[in-house]
Amino acid sequence: MIEVIDSWLRLAAARIHEQGPALTALDQAIGDGDHGTNMDRGFAAIVALLDAGAPEGDGDLAVAGTRLRTAGRTLISTVGGAAGPLYGTALMRAGGAIAGADVGLDTSALIVAGIDAAIGGIQQLGKASAGEKTMLDALMPAAAAGRAALADGATSPAVAGAMASAAEDGAAATIPLLATKGRASYLGERSIGHQDPGATSSALLLRALADSIAAAD
Ligand code: ADP
Ligand code: MG
Repeated sequence: MIEVIDSWLRLAAARIHEQGPALTALDQAIGDGDHGTNMDRGFAAIVALLDAGAPEGDGDLAVAGTRLRTAGRTLISTVGGAAGPLYGTALMRAGGAIAGADVGLDTSALIVAGIDAAIGGIQQLGKASAGEKTMLDALMPAAAAGRAALADGATSPAVAGAMASAAEDGAAATIPLLATKGRASYLGERSIGHQDPGATSSALLLRALADSIAAAD
């Protein structure tokens, strides 16, 4: 699992760097125009963490869990705004779920457990629910799609691919929504007609996960 996590974090950092201007443009429309630079700063710090070597730990799941928890703490300390604490908590919770998972679980079951825990952390901290035009509108459909694919016995690349596709659809479906949480909610009705930046970065992160799992398969 540590290989999956590390290759995901590196690919995610590269994609966030590439897509940073697009994420920032979305945040210029309904926020303060910092989402791309925030995320790029945080993921660059995660790459520096990866370059410093693998964490110690007793077994693959413990090491992978520690990696995610440390990456989450890195996001919290380097990314300002709403997204830093929310994504940081998400990674820390995912790391906790993976570290505590049964050793017999395969990659697909681990990523579904990870995203469920991540969503729990985001909701506990941000108090948002589905349909409020946030990152949850990408992550919650992704978790549901991942659970359904897992129940169907799909392979890990197929489970991760289903999650990424559902997240992309969910991000696109934020366009007509009215924002009722975060900075975009200050715009009221004027938030309608724009895609949520956090939902967009969540879809990007899950597409990077699917692509890194497919590449390793
Ligand atoms: P800020 O809004 O502080 O400038 P960012 O621009 O980095 O932070 O991130 C904005 C994104 O954070 C939004 O597009 C939204 O998806 C997400 N977000 C904001 N508030 C919440 C919340 N309470 N729960 C979940 N996600 C949220
Ligand atoms: Mg912002």
